[in-house]
Amino acid sequence: MTAERPAAKPMKSLDEALAQLLGYAARLDGVEQLATFDADGRVLAQDLVSHLHVPPQDNSSMDGYALRCADLTDPSRALPVSQRIPAGSAGTALAPQSVARIFTGAPIPAGADAVVMQEDCDVQADGSVRMTAQPKPGQWIRRAGEDVTRGAVVLARGARLTPAELGLAASIGMDVLSVARRPRVALFSTGDELVMPGAVAPEHMPPGAIYNSNRFFLKALLKRLGCEVSDLGIVPDQREATIAALRGAAEQHDLILTSGGVSVGEEDHIKPAVQSLGHLDLWQIAIKPGKPFAYGRVADAHFIGLPGNPVSSFVTFLLLVRPFLLKLQGVTQLAPTPMTVRADFSWPRADKRREFLRVRRNPNGGLDLFANQSSGVLTSAVWGDGLVDTPPGATITPGDVVRFIPFSELLA
Ligand code: AMP
Ligand code: MG
Repeated sequence: MTAERPAAKPMKSLDEALAQLLGYAARLDGVEQLATFDADGRVLAQDLVSHLHVPPQDNSSMDGYALRCADLTDPSRALPVSQRIPAGSAGTALAPQSVARIFTGAPIPAGADAVVMQEDCDVQADGSVRMTAQPKPGQWIRRAGEDVTRGAVVLARGARLTPAELGLAASIGMDVLSVARRPRVALFSTGDELVMPGAVAPEHMPPGAIYNSNRFFLKALLKRLGCEVSDLGIVPDQREATIAALRGAAEQHDLILTSGGVSVGEEDHIKPAVQSLGHLDLWQIAIKPGKPFAYGRVADAHFIGLPGNPVSSFVTFLLLVRPFLLKLQGVTQLAPTPMTVRADFSWPRADKRREFLRVRRNPNGGLDLFANQSSGVLTSAVWGDGLVDTPPGATITPGDVVRFIPFSELLA
């Protein structure tokens, strides 16, 4: 009789893993009042309602002359200039049978219904103006409220602020914004093979040592997502040291993020260490690169353990940790927008896992594949400008239309 082995846990699909992870990502409490100038990259914690129209009044989109089209029964007739309205002034009602000299951004005087750009006007010796083309009512007028109407929600709670959002907020008069507080993230790497760049020169690297690359991209990714990062460095592959690092980190952080040590080898100490302080689920996610992934809790902090292989770490961060951190801040739009693009490569060997291939757009509108798709080859992520999301069991032949997620969607 053979001893029964415990049944291997079924692999989780990415969608399942993501849904479960997002289920744990309760919005952080705490809101910060921040100058609009300083709010780039942050998440809005209030609906922004406009208390005015933008633009506030009908105004000219050209330098030229405002007039009433009906006054121009005979287009060859010159009309006198009855007033001058530069931007920032208001003018008065337009006198009948006259034009107003007007500049871009200046309010249209009452009674005028069109602007003739100065290039379409002949100024006569006596200062009156003749139009070289018949104006149409409404031309070169920007309407009050055509950008924003009074009472409209211009940006909703949960919106991520980028430069355009900051400009729009300013256009309705907001100098201070209420934003979600930054998630506090403790970052550490595990692995006795890791050496920090700068600590040992390349020519003196001992056998078996590699530089810690994950720490650099993970820190940068976290910062881009608005996090306050405590970089706790490299934790040795020892249970006690790992427990001590985790215990300290849990006190002041919303999330502890580690890379490496989440497989189940005997040098992988993350699992027992987290379990001794809280709880941990080790997930096998059916994606490539990136299979091992851990979620747990240490005291009040979330714990996420990423795989050590650099590309696995990078990709699982983008697909899982990024939406998690955005959701903590209250972001509503979490999924990247994929595009359908033609593959100019072949991927003949199907895998039972969903694969994320590193590819690059070529000048012919198609996608090229990086030759080495190994999870340790970080060059693939630099050479590539995005991922092809390949369903489990799928192969690709040149000309197939595939699902492409540009890195620009994932790195913002
Ligand atoms: P692990 O998940 O700890 O078994 O590590 C898997 C692979 O990733 C090993 O080849 C490690 O040397 C490598 N690795 C782990 N952490 C890092 C890191 N911070 N930077 C670069 N490579 C790493
Ligand atoms: Mg390791």
